[in-house]
Amino acid sequence: MLVTFWGTRGSIAKAGPSTVRFGGNTSCVSVRSDAGTQLVIDCGTGAHGLGQSLVAASGGGPIDGHILISHTHWDHIQGLPFFAPLFVEGNTWHIYGPSGLGGSLHEILAGQMEYRYFPVEIDQLSAHVEHHDLVEGVLRIDDATIVTRYLNHPALTLGYRVEVDGAMVVYSSDHEPHDQSLAVGGDLARNRQDDAHAQFVSGADLLIHDAQYLGSEYGDHVGWGHSTVEYVIDLARRADVRSVALYHHDPNRTDDQIDDLLEMARAHARRSGYDGDVFAAAEGSAIEVRGNRPLSPMVAQATDAAASSAVVAPSQVAVVVAQSPDVTETLAAAARAEDLDVVVTADLREAFEIVRSTEPGIVLLEPFADDGGFDLVAAIRELGTGHGASVPIIMVGRDEARWHPDSEETRITEWLVWPASPFFLRTKLRAWLLRRSFRWQNAPLPDDEDQRITALHDLGVLDTAPEARFDRHTDDIAAILDVPVALVSLVDTDRQWFKSRRGTVVEQTPREMSLCAHAILGTEVLQIEDTLADPRFADNPLVAGGPRLRFYAGMPLTLDDGSRVGTLCVADHRPRHLDDDQLEALRRTAALVVQELQTR
Ligand SMILES: [Zn+2]
Ligand SMILES: [Zn+2]
Repeated sequence: MLVTFWGTRGSIAKAGPSTVRFGGNTSCVSVRSDAGTQLVIDCGTGAHGLGQSLVAASGGGPIDGHILISHTHWDHIQGLPFFAPLFVEGNTWHIYGPSGLGGSLHEILAGQMEYRYFPVEIDQLSAHVEHHDLVEGVLRIDDATIVTRYLNHPALTLGYRVEVDGAMVVYSSDHEPHDQSLAVGGDLARNRQDDAHAQFVSGADLLIHDAQYLGSEYGDHVGWGHSTVEYVIDLARRADVRSVALYHHDPNRTDDQIDDLLEMARAHARRSGYDGDVFAAAEGSAIEVRGNRPLSPMVAQATDAAASSAVVAPSQVAVVVAQSPDVTETLAAAARAEDLDVVVTADLREAFEIVRSTEPGIVLLEPFADDGGFDLVAAIRELGTGHGASVPIIMVGRDEARWHPDSEETRITEWLVWPASPFFLRTKLRAWLLRRSFRWQNAPLPDDEDQRITALHDLGVLDTAPEARFDRHTDDIAAILDVPVALVSLVDTDRQWFKSRRGTVVEQTPREMSLCAHAILGTEVLQIEDTLADPRFADNPLVAGGPRLRFYAGMPLTLDDGSRVGTLCVADHRPRHLDDDQLEALRRTAALVVQELQTR
């Protein structure tokens, strides 16, 4: 693929004699595959030059393409109204970006083209334009495969990992180290989120990364959402990246100063043993990126990045556990601004009861003076059958080093350093809620839900005592398939209730964590060989916590009238695969269970 830099500057365009070599236009990179797929990543003022060049090269023919917006700060979208291909009838352009804070991508982009600011409104563009809101996941555009991931920035921001032509380019602009001490250099493994960022960029042939600051300048820019050259080099080393383009140059930096910055980056690379190629992105330069690798495994594990509207967050309650008035007030205000129902407490014991009873979507916790609140975190995590196992717990405090020796052990999802701006907090909340709903999907309701529930209730088996006539079937199937867990699970309005259960003492669970609620959507066995590899289930509390189900197979129980009232299901604590004979045994036994259900 051919990668071309059209704008390399961050924050604001800076034309003039001091920015001639590295360029004064803001963020814009084009990626063109060998087959001709045209991607544009970010649409800062550099997009003007790209648009002119595409029109000149088109010979009057149609110019189609795809614009990937990292986030909607000005320096990443201001070139959009000046991107010539959008003004040519017959062209088709798709625009992708994270659904922002309180508005769709289309609404946000339309805002900067209102008549007060610009003479042409977005819906009056001559080209056919389609907008796509993205979450974390995978996106396929013709021959290109793109994985998205949220970056650490005070606006909801996506990084793009583009795989095409056997090569991989990662675009990660406007990102700050999660662990701020890494800004001057250090091992990214120290912080789970920074390590996840390294996973995201791992193996890139070319990494285009925000490197706005030097470590020595970072102190004055904490929380601005940008990286330092030291962090980027350490990231590239950890992630085995082949070459690094330092990007999003500070508008105050002259060409000569960027030379100096590059020299310091290379010195840091030598010191730390990174032997990839390091250069500063220069406007107008183009790079052929070649490779012959297969698609990375990350692609197979990611769900559809464009599926945001189909996903329902499991809970919209935010629990704020804090003692300082300013922290309490700011956290609660940020959560309310994100349309969450906020419950505030300054009492750890009460906090636990609230989490247990409300099963919140997120917990925001200020460290407490005595134990830091880690007992609360541990207690929440032990709520294995509820949301406790997977609810994001965000610590918000001043002194990370004091309270946060090992994030793995303390099982905090992320640490945010106080003071944090309301925008930063809102971005974090939004990202975690989207990320969570995306890693754990509720099953949609079947089309015949009302009739199905009536049929289930008419059976008269719900909340009755265990019976041998069902238990012998779960015993049989557990023995035949050699699995520790076998259940007759009935999917009720808001729960799944077990008429017969082998291998669990739990009588019922909320429907939203029911794997059987997915199984009853079809007529055949739903087999999930490894739940952790399936983003629909990876963070499900039955998978991530408590029973730790790694394998699931459920055969719908279909009554004579066609209602699928539940399943005969089996589960194991390790990945499994049922062969045809085993699947047939599951089907046969399920048929016997249906007979029993319909016999009074
Ligand atoms: Zn920017
Ligand atoms: Zn930004």
